[in-house]
Amino acid sequence: MNILEAKKEVLDVAKKAHQEKLVAGTSGNVSIYLKSKDLVVITPSSIPYASMKDSDISVITLDGKVVDGKHSPSSEWPMHTEIYRKLEKECALVHTHSPYATSFAVCNEGIPEILIEMKPFIGGDIKVVPFAPAGSQELGEITAPFLIDRNACLLANHGTLSVGDNLEKAFFSSIYLEDAAKIYHLAKSVGNPRII
Ligand code: 13P
Ligand code: ZN
Repeated sequence: MNILEAKKEVLDVAKKAHQEKLVAGTSGNVSIYLKSKDLVVITPSSIPYASMKDSDISVITLDGKVVDGKHSPSSEWPMHTEIYRKLEKECALVHTHSPYATSFAVCNEGIPEILIEMKPFIGGDIKVVPFAPAGSQELGEITAPFLIDRNACLLANHGTLSVGDNLEKAFFSSIYLEDAAKIYHLAKSVGNPRII
């Protein structure tokens, strides 16, 4: 995949995440790590999704040096790059503040494996990464281990993070995470959810 193709994919998934209401305002961010080039293609910081163009997408090194882009890269670039450093493979990340999942993150409560889709799309239950400040490298350091045997996790008092071998897979994992959180929330109000 070349840089322009990666920019177009990042833009497409960022807009879809906004349309699906996984992110409000300019919250959330999306990136792809191009391992052969050792570059990260990432959404810009605080730019509205509706008017975002592929020329607004940033390209950075793992140290956060901007090699292409007219805006600052996402303020979460240290989290994205730290995770790519630890996972050491070509992959992609989607960070959202999707409301049902984030409500569990705010309560520091994980989501047990309650739905058949959770195993194939997420890898099992969803765990909560302890709190670390937004935009910190520490957030990436403590989150990376949670994405080794799972494709998604909750970030305490913040939101969600999903990983995939490609951006489409990471996006689907963030959709299934929000779906599981919504259904778990509803099931808890109906009765006692049974874990698979
Ligand atoms: P950016 O607009 O800088 O990507 O920040 C959004 C966000 O979700 C911070 O955690
Ligand atoms: Zn965030």
